[in-house]
Amino acid sequence: MSAPLLPITRPSIDEETIAAVCAVLRSGWITSGPKVQAFEAALAELCGGRPVRAFNSGTATLEVALRLAGIGAGDEVITTPLTWVATANVILEVGATPVLVDIDPATRNIDLERIEAAITPRTRALMPVDLAGLPVDRDRLYAIAGRHRLRVVEDAAQSIGASWNGKAIGSSGDFVSFSFHANKNLTTCEGGALVLPADIDPALCERRRLQGVQRFADGSMDVDLLGGKFNLTDVAAAVGLGQLRHLDEFTARRRALARLYFERLDPALALELPPADFANCNWHMFQPLLPAACDRGAFIAAMRQQGIGVGVHYPALHLFSLYRGLGFRAGQFPHAESVGARTVTLPLFPAMSEADVDRVCRALRAVLKP
Ligand SMILES: *Cc1c(COP(=O)(O)O)cnc(C)c1O
Repeated sequence: MSAPLLPITRPSIDEETIAAVCAVLRSGWITSGPKVQAFEAALAELCGGRPVRAFNSGTATLEVALRLAGIGAGDEVITTPLTWVATANVILEVGATPVLVDIDPATRNIDLERIEAAITPRTRALMPVDLAGLPVDRDRLYAIAGRHRLRVVEDAAQSIGASWNGKAIGSSGDFVSFSFHANKNLTTCEGGALVLPADIDPALCERRRLQGVQRFADGSMDVDLLGGKFNLTDVAAAVGLGQLRHLDEFTARRRALARLYFERLDPALALELPPADFANCNWHMFQPLLPAACDRGAFIAAMRQQGIGVGVHYPALHLFSLYRGLGFRAGQFPHAESVGARTVTLPLFPAMSEADVDRVCRALRAVLKP
């Protein structure tokens, strides 16, 4: 193949944003400062006026959310086995125990029907994940949390720009965590943001973000709790501000491209398509499932031969050595294991063309047609 590889994703960063980054670099103030504050204000606007604080990663936001919720040793947090491993790692990081609940194969998100059976007297929080930007049903989720007096830390790393019942993800609920990793729908290269519930003092969140330092008007300071080193730079915030201007357009473009995949993928290929949600989902990824008999490694290699990048997001996390070592085993979460073993991520990003979608569809036909 002579055509260059079509990657699974590529950030869209405009010249105005690049100029804004250069201006920050020339300004003499390159770490957290006015750009971070402006970025937080713009994110708060997106989130219905709720307080938002920016971080240097989505992993840091999740960890700080758990700490702010008072979760630690002896506590259990319920989440999904089908997510980026960061989701469960942060539960371990704060000393708590991840309790996994299998997915609903129809949504590939945590099965809301099964959550209550996993709740114990030690359960303190639910950590749902909006995989591929498809939101977990917020009405049912918060009904469960309310009945059992649990906190919710929404891992919305993949769902900025998505909505539930017409309301933007982040504009309601308990803690909501976004990631701005390079591959996410909105990027700061690396970064994240935490939307705070009304009972959490944003100043406390800021101390958890930066060494626990509290500064007073007279210039003195104190440290009365252990904080991390999780602040975002102004350089990164300038990227984020440029991205936010395009978020609606990025989401619309992703939806349009996902629709094209549904129209143009050959149904004879026996791919299992993701849920066709064009109202709530932000189409962070387009992920068909391969037929069970198909060798995924060979498929990925053959697609690369055709010039098409293919990703895997994600194998079920309880099968990783670290989690097996904690007692998890194969067979425990059969739906997550099946999806995790068959899922492939096809190219989908705002700068992709219709012709690119056709290229992917042609390559799939060449590789999969019996
Ligand atoms: C990307 C991601 C994270 C972690 O975000 P980082 O910014 O990479 O730390 C957490 N959970 C999910 C579901 C993600 O996709």
